[in-house]
Amino acid sequence: MLRDPMLRGVVWLRFLLVVIFATLGSLAFLVSRSEANAETVRIIAPGVWFREGDLEQGHSNNVIIEMKDYMIVVDANYPSGARAAMADVKRLTMKPVKYVFDTHHHGDHLYGNVLWTQAGATTLAFKGVSQELKRFEPGRWQAAAKERPDVADLHLDGPEPPKQDINEDLFVLNDGSRKVEFRHFGWAHTRGDGFVYLPKEQVLCTGDAVVNGPYNNVDDAYIENWPAVLRAAEKLKVKYVLPGHGLPGGRDLLLGQELFVTELFKSVKDGAGQGKKLEELQASIQLPMAVTPWVSDALLKQQIKAAYEEVTQHKPRGEITE
Ligand SMILES: [Zn+2]
Repeated sequence: MLRDPMLRGVVWLRFLLVVIFATLGSLAFLVSRSEANAETVRIIAPGVWFREGDLEQGHSNNVIIEMKDYMIVVDANYPSGARAAMADVKRLTMKPVKYVFDTHHHGDHLYGNVLWTQAGATTLAFKGVSQELKRFEPGRWQAAAKERPDVADLHLDGPEPPKQDINEDLFVLNDGSRKVEFRHFGWAHTRGDGFVYLPKEQVLCTGDAVVNGPYNNVDDAYIENWPAVLRAAEKLKVKYVLPGHGLPGGRDLLLGQELFVTELFKSVKDGAGQGKKLEELQASIQLPMAVTPWVSDALLKQQIKAAYEEVTQHKPRGEITE
């Protein structure tokens, strides 16, 4: 409880602003839903393209960035998504893909690594990504291979980890034509979450730390810490937010995602503090209207369960093995 009325006023004002932005975001989302066009490429700024992944194929989005002599691709995607993204890059340019950045360790963002390596690119990610691969693989790969022919057809025992680990929180590529910053702000969606920021173009690629729509998987997350990561990202000058799933948006996407994870964690923590059981929370929690675009009835029970485990076991959900 904040006793200082001034401070309390500031907190409420901030909350109100977030709600307003998130509501605007919801409207933008509803409008832009009709603009969804899976497996297509759109230009965001000169030399920066957004490739919309097909949710039905499980694909993530990709971002394609042109440098003077080479290309950078954000996220390796699943193998089938990687092949499709490679074909699209070839349609855009003759330049080779030199770097592929995995925003995190999930299969829909990383299982295509091996294909990019074979095509001559260097895959890279923050060090938390290879750490998580050591924990979760090859189990998840083998489970995916049972469901996905594109994974099975590679006939590998597990995913190829990023070839290059980034050990600092900031890594910069600057060839004079463009500056590209790879940033780690901490553990949100996953331990190794990486953002790609283009300061001149004010473009922020978020991986799944920000999604545009009801696509939040929080099982490997640190839900309580997630808003702090987004607030760090919000300090950047951002005009375009390119999420891991769903359509591109503006700054409001950051604020809407922040409000969603804040409200999810807070309602679970408050309820658990009142002694409510998981089932009661799952039956009663309703998140504010402002975060409607991020809420899926199918996912919400699982998200509440994950937050409940984090609250009651006092550690990040991603540290809890089932
Ligand atoms: Zn993910």
